[in-house]
Amino acid sequence: MIAEVIVDIASGETDRIFDYLCDDDLPVGSRVRAPFGNKVLPGFVMNVKERSSYPMEKMKKVLPCEDGLPALTDECLKLANKMADRYKVPKALTLRLFLPAEMRTGKVRELTRNYATLVELDDYQIAKNAKNQWGVVEYLQKNGKTDCAILNREFAGGVNALLKKGYVTVTKEQILRDPYKTVEGVMEERTLTPDQATAVAYIEKDDRTVQLLHGVTGSGKTEIYLNLIAKSLKAGKSSIFLVPEISLTPQMLSQLRARFGKNAAILHSGLSAGEKFDEWWRLRSGEAKIAIGARSAIFAPLENLGVVIIDEEHDSSYFSESSPRYSTFDIARLRAKYNGCKLVLGSATPSVETYKKAQDGEFGLVRLTKRINMRPLPEITIADMRREVRRGNNSSFSVALKEELEKCLESGNQAILFLNRRGYSQSVICKECGYVAKCDACDVSLTYHKDEKCLKCHYCGGRYEPLTACPECGSYKLSYTGTGTQRIVDELKKLYPTARILRMDNDTTRGKEGHYKILKEFGEKRADILVGTQMIAKGHDFPSVTLVGVLDADMGLHFSDYRSGERTFQLITQVAGRSGRAQEKGKVVLQTFSPENDVLRFAVTYDYEGFYRNEISRRAATVFPPFSKIVRVLVTGEDEKKTLEALKTVYFGLKDLYSEKSEYFLFFDKMKAPIKRIENKFRYQVLMRLLGGEILPDVYEICAEARTRDVVVSVEENPVNLS
Ligand code: ADP
Ligand code: ZN
Ligand code: ZN
Repeated sequence: MIAEVIVDIASGETDRIFDYLCDDDLPVGSRVRAPFGNKVLPGFVMNVKERSSYPMEKMKKVLPCEDGLPALTDECLKLANKMADRYKVPKALTLRLFLPAEMRTGKVRELTRNYATLVELDDYQIAKNAKNQWGVVEYLQKNGKTDCAILNREFAGGVNALLKKGYVTVTKEQILRDPYKTVEGVMEERTLTPDQATAVAYIEKDDRTVQLLHGVTGSGKTEIYLNLIAKSLKAGKSSIFLVPEISLTPQMLSQLRARFGKNAAILHSGLSAGEKFDEWWRLRSGEAKIAIGARSAIFAPLENLGVVIIDEEHDSSYFSESSPRYSTFDIARLRAKYNGCKLVLGSATPSVETYKKAQDGEFGLVRLTKRINMRPLPEITIADMRREVRRGNNSSFSVALKEELEKCLESGNQAILFLNRRGYSQSVICKECGYVAKCDACDVSLTYHKDEKCLKCHYCGGRYEPLTACPECGSYKLSYTGTGTQRIVDELKKLYPTARILRMDNDTTRGKEGHYKILKEFGEKRADILVGTQMIAKGHDFPSVTLVGVLDADMGLHFSDYRSGERTFQLITQVAGRSGRAQEKGKVVLQTFSPENDVLRFAVTYDYEGFYRNEISRRAATVFPPFSKIVRVLVTGEDEKKTLEALKTVYFGLKDLYSEKSEYFLFFDKMKAPIKRIENKFRYQVLMRLLGGEILPDVYEICAEARTRDVVVSVEENPVNLS
C-alpha cells in the first residue's frame, strides 16, 4: 500500500503530500517516521491508497511510530485540512493542534510500572536464611499484587530470585498520572428547577446547531451544562466542555470530578507534560468521554460527540494568540456540525456579535432571568470619585466603600475587591524630566513590585533593579503612579489591621495549584478580604461574600478599542455577580470618575438588553463589528530590515487587492503596532476594516507569501488585543 504523508515541518516548502510505501494495515491518522532526504522525519498519514503517480522503485518506506489506535481521528484530519486551507498555514501546524506537544517531541512516554504477583504453591523451595525472598513471599501473601519498586526497596534482590524460580510473575502496567488527586469531590445530584428544565428542553428540541444560553450570574447555567453532559454520556456519547481558565475554577473541577469521576479528563496548561499526555490518551482511547479545559481542549481527540459547551463565551481567552490564530467558536461549530450535535454557548453577558446572531435567528436563544431560589441580584451603588477627590479623599477607597467594608467585616462576612492591575504601581516616572522606566526588550513601561523589590516587565517577564534616582537627570523625585493590587493590600492593612487579606493575581498564583490554594483558603473563610485582578471575576461561588468593590470601573473604558464598552460591561457584571449568592443580600460599590457613562449606567441596573441596544446602534452607525470586520496583519521579527521587507510585501499585495475591490474596504493603512517591540521583536501592522462576510482568501494568501523563516506574519480577525 501507499501512504500519503505530511511531514511534521512547519514550512511552506514541505507543505504537500509525499507518497511512501507502507504496510497494508497502517491506519490513516497514525504517526510515522519518514525518510526524507538524508534525514528521518516524523509525519502524519493523511490517506492510504493503492497506486501512486510517483515511480514505485524510487519510493521509500515509512515506519509506524505506534501500534494500535492512530493518534488522529478522521474528524481531526478533516478539520486540520480545513483550517490549513482557510488560514493558509502549513498542514503540519494545524495537525499539531490535535496532539499534546509532549507526544510530538517524544519526550514523554507512557509511565509504566512492574508489578509482582505470587504464584500460589503449597511449598516454596527457599533457603531458611534467604530473608529477602521470604520477605517478598510473605508480603505478597498478605498484600497481593505489589509494585516491584516497593518490594525492591524493602527486600533487595528478593523479587529477581523468586522470578528465576518461577515463584512470582511480573507484569508491566501503565500508570495514568492523575493531576487532581488532591481535589476532593463535593457532589450532590440536583433536580433541575423548572426554569432550568425548560431551558434544557428548548436546547434539545430546537434544531439550530448553535444555542445561546443567556442567564444572569447565579441562574444555574452550570447545572444545565452538567445535565446535558450527563445525558450525552448516558447515550454513550462524548462531550467537550470549555471554560476560560480551568485553574481558576477548582470548584467547577471538583464538581465535575465528583459527578463524572474517571469519565472526565482535564486538559490545561498547568499540568505537567506527563499528566497532559495521560489525560489526552484517556480521551483518545475512550476511557474518558468528557474533555474539560480551556481553549485548546476544543481539539480533544473525541469521537461521537453528543454536545459541545463553551462557558463564558464572551471571554477573550477563546481567541488564539499564536499562529494559526483560530477562533475557538469556529472550530467548535465545525465539530458540532460534523457530529450532528449541539453547540451551547453560555454567558451572563454574551458578546455583542453572538447576541446579534441570536437576535437574527441564526442561533437559538434561551434566557434565564432569575437567580436560583429567586435570590436578588446585588444592589450596585456608584461612588463618584471626582467628588471624593474634591472632598480631599486621595485614598483608593471611597467613603461609601469604606462604610460597606466595615459593615461587612463586622457581620463576619467576606468582601472581594477588584482592580485589574497587578504589581505595586503601574509605572515609575521622573517628576523632573518625565523619564519613564521601560523594558530593554519591549517598548513598555515597567511595573514596580514591592514584595519582590524589583521592576518587572509584564510582557516578557524581565526584571530590573528598582530605581533610586532618575537615570536621565539624576533627580530623586520619582513618582510611582497607577495603583496596583499590592498597594491596595498595603492600604487595607493600614485601615484594617486585624482583617485577614488575600491577594490573587498573576504574581501570587504560580504553579499548578496556586489558584486553588488561595480560593480554598478564602472559601473556608480563613480570610476576610480577597483583592485581585480579573481572575477573581470569573465563575466563583463563595456564599459568604456580601460585598464586591470595583476599585476602578473606568479602567477599561478609555482604550481606543471598539470593544472597550462591551468589555467593561462584562467585567462589572461578572465581578458583581460574586456578591450575595447565598442567603444574605449582596452589595456592590462601583468607583468611577465618569458616573454618567452609559455603559456603567446599564451595568448598575443589570440591563443587558439596554446595553446591547445602545451598543449595537452605535456599532451600526460607526460601521464597526459585527457590521464590518477589523483585520490586522501583524508582522514581527527580530531583524528590523527583514521585518520591514515583509511588511512591504504584505502592504503592496493588499494595496493591489484594495484597488481591485475598493468597495470591500472601509479603512486601510500600515503603521507601527502600538507596542513597537516585544521580547526584542519589532512589530508592524497593516490595519483594515472590511465589509462582507468571510475574509477574502486573497488576504491570507498574500500574508502566506510574505512569511519567511525570520518574520512571522499573522492575520487576526477582530483582534481582542490591539497592542
Ligand atoms: P451560573 O453558572 O449561572 O452563574 P451556578 O451554576 O453557579 O450559576 O449556580 C448558582 C448557584 O445555584 C450555585 O450555588 C448552584 O450550586 C446552585 N444551583 C444551581 N442549580 C441548582 C438546582 N437545580 N438546585 C439547587 N441549587 C442549584
Ligand atoms: Zn529625570
Ligand atoms: Zn519586556
